[in-house]
Amino acid sequence: MADMKRHYQLAVIGAGPAGLAAATTAAELGAEVAVFDEQGAPGGQIYRATESIPEQRAQQLGSEYRRGRELVGAFRACGAKYFPTTQVWSLNGRREMGLVHQGRAFTVQADQVVIAGGAIERPVPFPGWTLAGVMNAGAGQILFKSHGIVPDDGVVLAGSGPLLLLLAWQYLHAGVRVKALLDLTPTWNHLLALPKLPRALLAGHYLTKGLQYKRELRRAGVTTLHNVRNLCGEGENKLQSVSFVHNGRERSLETGLLLVHFGVIPHTQLARIAGCRHVWDDSQLCWRPQLDEWGGTSVEGILVAGDGGGIGGARSAEHAGRLSALQALYALGALDRAARQRLSRMDRKWMREELHIRPFLESFFRISDDLLQVRSDDTLVCRCEEVTAGEIRAAIAQGHLDSNQVKFLTRCGMGACQGRQCAEAVSHIVAAATGKSVEEVGHYRERPPVNPLTLGQLAGLFPEETE
Ligand SMILES: Cc1cc2nc3c(=O)[nH]c(=O)nc-3n(C[C@H](O)[C@H](O)[C@H](O)COP(=O)(O)OP(=O)(O)OC[C@H]3O[C@@H](n4cnc5c(N)ncnc54)[C@H](O)[C@@H]3O)c2cc1C
Repeated sequence: MADMKRHYQLAVIGAGPAGLAAATTAAELGAEVAVFDEQGAPGGQIYRATESIPEQRAQQLGSEYRRGRELVGAFRACGAKYFPTTQVWSLNGRREMGLVHQGRAFTVQADQVVIAGGAIERPVPFPGWTLAGVMNAGAGQILFKSHGIVPDDGVVLAGSGPLLLLLAWQYLHAGVRVKALLDLTPTWNHLLALPKLPRALLAGHYLTKGLQYKRELRRAGVTTLHNVRNLCGEGENKLQSVSFVHNGRERSLETGLLLVHFGVIPHTQLARIAGCRHVWDDSQLCWRPQLDEWGGTSVEGILVAGDGGGIGGARSAEHAGRLSALQALYALGALDRAARQRLSRMDRKWMREELHIRPFLESFFRISDDLLQVRSDDTLVCRCEEVTAGEIRAAIAQGHLDSNQVKFLTRCGMGACQGRQCAEAVSHIVAAATGKSVEEVGHYRERPPVNPLTLGQLAGLFPEETE
C-alpha cells in the first residue's frame, strides 16, 4: 500500500459508528489519523453499504439506517486516511499492529489506538447448528444490505434479541416469506425485566419501535411462537426441518433455511491480544474490556470505543467514539484538560440517555442457561476442530477445570476462528460442570494472528531476510 505510513498519531480499527465518530473528531481537531477496516466501505455492521445502497433497499432497512450517510459523509470530508479491506490481525502493548491488505502483510505503529471493532453475534451451539442452511441472522442481514440477496423460498427465524425482530421486519418489507419467528426468550424474563421498565421508558422510542415491528408482523400474519425450547436443526447433510418444543408440545417445521440470533457480545480478540484487562459482565452475559470513562483500557495508549467495549447500540457507539478521540488528543498533547471536558459534555449526556434502555433489554432478552451450557453431548461446540460438548465434559471430568486447560486437551478454540465461535460456550460448560462462576473459569488466552495468515504473508514482512 504505497500511501500507508509506518507511523500515525492515532490509528482507529473499525469504521462503524464508533470508529467513524472517533476518526472524524480527531482529524477535525488536527490529528494525523489512519482508519483500518476489513470491510470494503465505511459504515460498520449497522450502516453497512450505506453509500452504495439503492434507495428502495435503504427504506426497507428502516429509518435508523439513514444516520449512516451523515456519519460517513462527515468522515469522508474529515481528512483521516482510510484503508478499507484491511484486516488487523495483531496488536501489542507497544501499539504495533499487523495488517493484511490485498494479500500482503504490513506493520504500523501509532501513538494512540482506538479499537472500534464492534460486536459479534453470540455463538450458541445447538443440535444441527452446523448443517448447511443454518446461519446467523446477522449473515442474512449482511447479504441483504450488501447485495440485496434475500431468501427466495422462505425462512424460519429463531432465537432472542432485538436484531431478530428487526430482521423479520426488514424481510417482511422486502417481500420475504417469514415462515415462523421462534422466540427462545424464557417467559420469566418478562418479570425480571419489569423493574427496569421505568428507566427504559426514558428511551421510549426504542420500545415504541419494537412494538411497531411486532404489530406489523402480526398484521402480516407472520406466526410468532413464544417460549420455544429445544431448538434443533434436522437433515442429512443440509437442513430440511426445524424441531422444537412449544408450550410442552414437540413440533416441527419444514424449511431449508434457518437464521438464528442470540444477541450480540463485544468482539474482544484485539483488546485481549494487546494485553488489556477484561471483566465478566453478568448483565450482558459476556466478557468486555475494563474501561475508564474515556474508553481507556489497562494498556496505555489503547482505547476501546463502541460495542467492542460493551453493548450499547449504534448511537451510544458514536458518543463513545468521540469521547475516545478526545482522550487520545489529550494524551497526544493536542487538547488540554479543560477543552477535553468541555468538548465531551454533550456526548456524555447523550450517551447516558441512550443507555437507559440497556438494563431492560439485557433482562428481557437474557438467554436461558440451557442454551448457554449446551446440554446435548453430541452437539459440536468447536466447529473448526470438531469438538463436541461431550468431549469437553469428558476433559473436565479428567480434571481440566478451566477454559485454557480444556483448550490444551481438546484443541477446542485452536482452529481458524481462534475461538471466536466456541470460547463463550466452553466457559459456560466448564462453569456449569465445576460449580464455579464464568469469571473464575476464565476465557481462552489468545495469541496473534486473530485471523488466518499465510506463511508467505508473514515472510513478506521481512523482505530483506527472505531474499
Ligand atoms: C451482524 C450484526 C448486525 C447488526 N445489525 C444491526 C442493525 O441492523 N441495527 C442495529 O441497530 N444494530 C445492529 N447491530 C448492532 C450494531 O453492530 C452496533 O450497535 C453498532 O454497529 C456498533 O457500532 P461499532 O462502531 O461499535 O461497531 P461496528 O458497527 O460493528 O463496526 C466495527 C467495524 O470494525 C471492523 N473490524 C472488526 N474487527 C476488525 C479487524 N480485526 N480488522 C479490521 N476491521 C475490523 C468491522 O469490519 C466493522 O466495520 C448488528 C450487530 C451485528 C454483529
